Order: sequence, then C-alpha cells, then structure tokens
Amino acid sequence: MLYKLLLLLALTLGAGRWAAPAAAQAAPADTVAARHPAFDVEAATRHYLDTLTPAQKAKSDAYFEGGYWLQLWGLVYALGVAGVFLGLGLSRWLRARTARLPRRWQRTWAYAALYLLLAAGLSFPLTVYQGFVREHQYGLSNLTFGAWLGEALTSLAVSVVFGSLLVLALYGAIRRAGARWWVWGTAIVGLFVVVGVAVGPVFLSPLFNKYTPLPAGPVREGILSMARANGVPADNVYYFDASKQSKRISANVSGLGSTIRVSLNDNLLRRCTPAEVQAVMGHELGHYVLNHIPKMLVFLLVLISIGFWAVDGAFGWLVRRYGARWGVAGLADVGGLPLLAALFAVASFLATPVTNTIVRTNEQEADLFGLNAARQPDGFAAIAMKLSEYRKIEPTPLEEIIFFDHPSGRTRVQSAMRWKAEHLDGR
Ligand SMILES: [Zn+2]
Repeated sequence: MLYKLLLLLALTLGAGRWAAPAAAQAAPADTVAARHPAFDVEAATRHYLDTLTPAQKAKSDAYFEGGYWLQLWGLVYALGVAGVFLGLGLSRWLRARTARLPRRWQRTWAYAALYLLLAAGLSFPLTVYQGFVREHQYGLSNLTFGAWLGEALTSLAVSVVFGSLLVLALYGAIRRAGARWWVWGTAIVGLFVVVGVAVGPVFLSPLFNKYTPLPAGPVREGILSMARANGVPADNVYYFDASKQSKRISANVSGLGSTIRVSLNDNLLRRCTPAEVQAVMGHELGHYVLNHIPKMLVFLLVLISIGFWAVDGAFGWLVRRYGARWGVAGLADVGGLPLLAALFAVASFLATPVTNTIVRTNEQEADLFGLNAARQPDGFAAIAMKLSEYRKIEPTPLEEIIFFDHPSGRTRVQSAMRWKAEHLDGR
C-alpha cells in the first residue's frame, strides 16, 4: 500500500485539484460587510446554497458521505489482504518462488513486483466497486467497463514499475543503514516523489488524456491574459479531454521546475460561463504562484518520516510476537513487506485529518488568491455550487476538518461573498 500512498501523494500534489475542503472558517462578525453594511454576506451565501434542490443535496451528501465509509472499508480490506499474505501463507509461497534467483536484489525486486500485482488482484473487487460501479450509480462516470479497465491496468503497470523500484531502494536502506533506515527511507521516497511529480505531466498524464493548447477564442484570451499578469507563461497553460472519463469540471496545477503547468479540462470550458472559468483559473494560478507543490512536498516528507518511524516500532513489536507464525524473520526480510504495507496503511489512515488539513489550507489560500486575481466572486460562488455534484455542500465544521481536502461549497461561497462585500465600490 506504500506505493498507493505515494501515487496518491503524487496525484494530490500534482493535481492541486480545485475541488477539495478547508477548515470551515466562519467570518468573524466584525469583518463581514465592513465597508458595505447593506450587503449581507450570510444572506448572499444562503441564497447560493439554496439553489441546490433537496434531491440534489441528498444525492451529493450520500455520495460524499459514502466516501467516508469507503476510507474505513478500504483500510479493513487492506488489512484483510495483509492477512492473506501473512496468515494464509501467500508471502511464504511468494518468497519460495523467488528464492532461486541468484542475487538478493533480484529476489527482493521480484518479490516486490509480484506482491504488488497479487495485492492489486486481491483488491480488485473493491477497486471495481469504488472506481466503476459506484461512479456509475451516481452518474459521475462516462467510461465503459472496458475503457475503465484499460485505465486501471495502465495505472497498475505504472504502480508496479515505480513501486517495485521504490521497495528495492527502501530494502537497500534497511539493510545498509540499520536502525536509521527511516531517515534514508524518507530521502528515497522524497527522490521518487520529486521525480514522479516532475515527470508526471510529461510521461504519466498523457497515458490517460490528451493535452493540447487551449482552443482559440475570447475565453482563451481572458485566461492567458490573467496568467501573464500573474507571471505564468502562456505556454504553461493546457487543455485536456476529461469528458471521456466523466462530466466533472476540474482543473489542476501539476509538475515541478520546468514541467510545472496549469491544465483546464474540457468540461470546465464547455459547461461554465467565462466568469466561472476565470474564477477557476485564478484559483489554479494561486497554486502556481504560491509554490504549493514544493511546499506540499516538504510537509508530506515530514509526515512520511514520522510514519516510517512509527511503522518501524510497530513492526518490531509485531514480529517479536508473530514473526515465526507469519514467516517473517525481521525488517530486512522482504517477506515482511505485506506487514510493512499494512502498518503504513494504518498510519496513513490515522493521518488523514492532518493530510486533509494541509491540502485544504493550500486550497483555501488558492481560493483567496483566485478571488483577488480573477475578481469574479459570483463566478467563483457558482463554480463552488457546481462542484456539489461530487462534494457535500454544507458539512459540519468538524466534518470539514476531518474529511475535506478542499474547502466545502459553503466555505467557498462565503469567502466569495465576503470578498464581494469588500469590493462593491469596484475597488
Ligand atoms: Zn486547488
């Protein structure tokens, strides 16, 4: 599951998706409509929220809240998969099959690659439910099963190639650095994530979508003008065909160094007004200009080092008690990889509110940057409402802190109306 976490990191970082939650920040009363007391921020926010019908709200709440449970079931399932490897002997069998290879690194690499494939196979029912069945139940996917499976297999191939090399490097650190392996492990993960995020837009994203320059027209001119005004070269703005996968509107900032870019999807340009597209572009420019990707890398590596340290302690404790039964000799034994993966899955599950809050805080910064850059508070509020297709619009504050990796629709509409209240005189 380590590779999954890393892939997730790369995706979360790479795609500072406009779509995620932030701590509910109720505006202190004294900041609301300070300059224009006649404009009621709360009433304007409520007006937007009430444009959602009860049926639409029930549907998006059910979809999003189902996601909370899926995180828990995902963890339980992952522990079940680890149980098959350790308790039912799949790990012993795998190690015996790879034992004939002449060199230790070959045995480690072969075990890792086969483990990743078998674990993905065992997880396949949950993957199909989560990625295909459920998305269709809620009318969020445009993919046939064949097309979905093709994409899932492409992702798996990428995961096995990168994941097995990462595992090989981590076992190298474990075998050479001893008790300090987690320090080296963090550096190795950092290297993989940096390379993955940097090459992602050039080599990985094109495996799934076609990226082209923006189509000509007034919308393009407005977007590129805002990009230039904020120091982002027009060459770094792309357009991609997300409509083959779903009707979701989205955009993202991806890449690192020379590969950094803003990508807008075709659903956004087709389904939204020019003011709404400007509002989204302002947000994405915020991620770009505020260097959110490098900052997130730093935060996440700190979390990973803490995770490795905790996993190291738990692994030692469990192997002293159950190592003989599971056929795991110690940390340097690759047969313990399923246990390491399970412990990392537990650690990343427990860290979810922290990672969500780190991401959501960046998203909120990008929201505010975008309001200032695009000056389209109503466009921004309208987009926040459209995102309710896949995100609960009005969670409780605690729910937003724990589960949301972007600000909720309510927080976003309120930010927009607060900005509007302070700029009613056109300043
Ligand atoms: Zn964003």
